[in-house]
Amino acid sequence: MVYAWASDPNLRKRGESGGAITALLKFALEEGIVDAVLGVKRGLDLYDARPVLITDPQDVEETAGSIHGGTLLLSKLFGKYLAGAEGFKVAAVMKGCDVMGTIEQAKRGMVNIDNLLLIGLNCGGSIAPSMMRRMISEVFGVDPGTVEEETIHKGRFHITVGGEHRAVRIPELEKGGYGRRDNCRRCKMKVPRGADLACGNWGVREELVGEATFVEVCSERGRDLVERAKAAGAIGVGVPDGACIKARKRREDLIVNLSDEEQKKDFALLEGSSDRMSFIVEETARCIKCYACIEVCPALFNTTGPYMTAFPGIIPPGIEFHLTRYAHVAESCINCGQCEELCPMDIPNARIMHAIAADLQELHGYRAGEDMSRPKIALMKDPKPASTSPPAEDLLQLGKG
Ligand SMILES: Cc1cc2nc3c(=O)[nH]c(=O)nc-3n(C[C@H](O)[C@H](O)[C@H](O)COP(=O)(O)OP(=O)(O)OC[C@H]3O[C@@H](n4cnc5c(N)ncnc54)[C@H](O)[C@@H]3O)c2cc1C
Ligand code: SF4
Ligand code: SF4
Repeated sequence: MVYAWASDPNLRKRGESGGAITALLKFALEEGIVDAVLGVKRGLDLYDARPVLITDPQDVEETAGSIHGGTLLLSKLFGKYLAGAEGFKVAAVMKGCDVMGTIEQAKRGMVNIDNLLLIGLNCGGSIAPSMMRRMISEVFGVDPGTVEEETIHKGRFHITVGGEHRAVRIPELEKGGYGRRDNCRRCKMKVPRGADLACGNWGVREELVGEATFVEVCSERGRDLVERAKAAGAIGVGVPDGACIKARKRREDLIVNLSDEEQKKDFALLEGSSDRMSFIVEETARCIKCYACIEVCPALFNTTGPYMTAFPGIIPPGIEFHLTRYAHVAESCINCGQCEELCPMDIPNARIMHAIAADLQELHGYRAGEDMSRPKIALMKDPKPASTSPPAEDLLQLGKG
């Protein structure tokens, strides 16, 4: 475990906590350790998180900073648009759900994980852009369009407007019905140790807050990157003391315990088999069969074929449409929330699937998204392989633009 920061003062300033991640990514590209970087940058405004593939080290800087209204899941981008990272190496910056989703996609042969360098971000949770706007307007009484910066620190959501700084405690926001996405509240993957590095601001010594990130090295590949970047002078590195390591662990344990509570609350309506079935029948009756929940799910392949044939043309579809999806995802659900977030009919898809998967995982002693072990029930064979990705050379060319 180390503290790290960018040596370049500009990256240090632009980064969320000292810019170590940006410096590591730039170094990895410059040294040819990877051919491309997959990061997230601010789009039209601070509520617009955009995934970006970068091949020019000078462009990495534009991804510096954390976007807490960024509710994207990056894992399916490899299979859909990046030729499964076959034939080129990519460094990708990922929250816990991104890492878990990528591991599930790798198990299904949708991405070559050996070609990925995963820079994990600790994540207490993200906020849907629409919710963030509403919260800023109703809680802070501020026009969301005028906010210059947003950040989350020490359990508080902070905004800067007209150079002035304001903050509200996240538990207060959540009591008022604002705050993180439901799946984030339930999530227990707060430190993504399935990545090569897990980086975050928890455990950073008071005088270094905002100036350094706490890096847990989780693999030899991660260690190699940190050591080479340090030796080349791209990053500065310090050693955290025992008190800081303990403080970080306390924060992690605290939020994981809170997630247990949130799971209990969210799963209460889905407790017994008949309650669960009634809830599913009632909620999915709104379904318009747009397939968004299937297309985004990292535990499924990039095909909607098998689901299209379930009750073709019938809206709402029969319950079998959803039962098929539940059976195919089964214990592989990583609670990324995408199937709920993107559902145009506001069906609590992730809550339902997470409750089912949690029971199956307990039954089979299986943990989705944590390692490459295979599930016992979920669909693991692509029912209709179809890659629409352009070849790797074209992608790298595109990344230059
Ligand atoms: C939504 C979110 C929640 C977080 N919550 C915590 C937390 O509770 N505890 C904690 O210790 N740390 C948390 N972090 C991590 C922390 O904010 C810093 O990102 C980390 O300390 C690294 O700092 P840095 O200066 O080295 O990163 P930088 O050099 O600023 O690089 C940041 C990197 O994060 C990527 N990124 C930004 N937004 C997103 C996003 N929405 N999804 C995926 N990648 C993104 C960018 O592509 C960039 O490469 C969170 C980060 C995010 C994005
Ligand atoms: S995203 Fe919603 S409306 Fe679309 S198929 Fe899934 S459940 Fe139905
Ligand atoms: S079922 Fe929903 S929450 Fe679970 S992994 Fe798939 S998209 Fe994510």
